[in-house]
Amino acid sequence: MALMLTGMGVSRGVSIGPVFVLHRNQPEIIEKSIEKKQISTEVKRFKTAHTLARKQLLKVKGAIPEDSPDDISAFIETHLLMLDDSMLATTPVELIKQNLCNAEWAVKLQRDAIVKVFESMDDPYIATRRDDVNHVFNRVTQALVNDNKERDEEVQNWKDQIIVADDLTPADTVLMQHNGVAGFVTEMGGPLSHTAILARSLNIPAIVGLTEARRFLKAGETLVIDGENGMVMADPDSNAIDHFHKRQRDIKRKARELIKLTDTKPRAKSGEKISLLANIEIEDDLKALRRVNAAGVGLYRTEFLYMRRDDIPDEEEHFKTYMRVVRALRGSPLTIRTVDLGADKEVDTVSTGPLAHNPAMGLRGIRLCLNDPSLFVPQLRAILRASAKGPIKIMFPMLTTVTELQQAIQLLENTKDNLRREKIKFDEKIHVGGMIEVPAAAISASHFAEHLNFLSIGTNDLIQYTLAIDRIDDQVNYLYDPVNPAVLTLIKMVIDAGIKQKIPVTMCGEMAGNSEYTRLLLGLGLREFSMPPNSILEIKSALRGTNIGSIRRRALALLHCSDKEKQANLLRKLNE
Ligand code: PEP
Ligand code: MG
Repeated sequence: MALMLTGMGVSRGVSIGPVFVLHRNQPEIIEKSIEKKQISTEVKRFKTAHTLARKQLLKVKGAIPEDSPDDISAFIETHLLMLDDSMLATTPVELIKQNLCNAEWAVKLQRDAIVKVFESMDDPYIATRRDDVNHVFNRVTQALVNDNKERDEEVQNWKDQIIVADDLTPADTVLMQHNGVAGFVTEMGGPLSHTAILARSLNIPAIVGLTEARRFLKAGETLVIDGENGMVMADPDSNAIDHFHKRQRDIKRKARELIKLTDTKPRAKSGEKISLLANIEIEDDLKALRRVNAAGVGLYRTEFLYMRRDDIPDEEEHFKTYMRVVRALRGSPLTIRTVDLGADKEVDTVSTGPLAHNPAMGLRGIRLCLNDPSLFVPQLRAILRASAKGPIKIMFPMLTTVTELQQAIQLLENTKDNLRREKIKFDEKIHVGGMIEVPAAAISASHFAEHLNFLSIGTNDLIQYTLAIDRIDDQVNYLYDPVNPAVLTLIKMVIDAGIKQKIPVTMCGEMAGNSEYTRLLLGLGLREFSMPPNSILEIKSALRGTNIGSIRRRALALLHCSDKEKQANLLRKLNE
């Protein structure tokens, strides 16, 4: 009988295939006391295991296909660097000597100590890096437990199978793609884990966080996974299999259809020209942007320049990075958002003050930058300098009051004056925009519009603040609702403010990349959308099928509809 389970879908696509259960569990380690004369034997065992682990990782690195995204080899590099770090290369030797214990125990002691440090950090990104530490230590332990024999990676059996494991390392994921696995399900992991990121880059349908998957799913039985909604079905009957085969065909057909739109102009059926821009975070995102022919970058989240490092980027580093992006964009516009650190984008190197009770409402975004010009000015200088070389716009995040905006503009003007004095070129007409993502700013959007060249609606935060739901708290996720009439009313106010002031309004929150809302937003008057590059063709397809004049009435009706059922009906009719 079929069994349905649900995990977290982290990489889209439907796969059907037999289960291959992979045991990557950390073997049970027992402490053994040794005598002084045994120290050299244990140290030798440790060093041989360490060398073997290194050899295995280099083998995986060699298996990465040449045309793979750069981040794939970067993940393996990170593991090699961890392996070579003294915390793993030499400290266990010290521990063997100090504690007179077996090599396995010394490795375990060191791993526990490091994992404890990672776990004490509140940042979800850092927490997932704890998995990397575990993966690297486990590799050494496995080599020790297997008495330093080369581990059979079982890969020859993986083709067309769905791997079910407690956890997978990035190295496993690379080997999987190399060996043609159909998909994978893990008990651990989250959407930010390296394994999930890799699955998306490698296009392997994947589900993580399915607790006790290996208890419920049996080796060899047929499994269906849907990486979009996290659904897992074991032992499906022939009707279900037919249904999912059809879904696979539909997904493939849709992808083929969408690719055909790559070179077409983004226009509504009724003729209006619509701008489809990309959100980028790292330079590698530019490859995806080029694949879908996006009109430019509507949101460059510069926070990522500050992450995963011990210092903060200086003006020169900002400048060089922006120049690389400008060159890669070959004349397409680039909207650089000044750094929006704090709350869910916390870094160790920039203080947001004493531990806040509610960091989302604390010192973040423009507040943090105005509070510390030494953080802000080098970035402003770099953006202005790069603006001499390509069409750059500057955008301030998290504006709440017009006074804040005026202060930010004043700092920008002072920075321009200094550059003029230094005879450094920049675009004298650089456009300045503001993100409208706080309800107060949405309500006063017309006042903001008087000082700006464009507005950009950040729905991720606008929804969080309007509905009072922390965007990273999964306990209140159920309240997340982009079509809540209060949210739609604020969005409409911002669009209207832009129309009145004759300045463009973009939406760069996730809502802009969800095709369920494309018609609604067009009906409310939105004409510029910025989204993750992977969503662009889908949105293009939605707007090409839209006659804006004929859907406006229904879109506006949603502004006044708070009944959930009526709302769903209106939205369905709108999208018909
Ligand atoms: C938003 O809030 O909608 C937005 C685009 O900014 P971020 O997600 O980076 O906070
Ligand atoms: Mg935001």
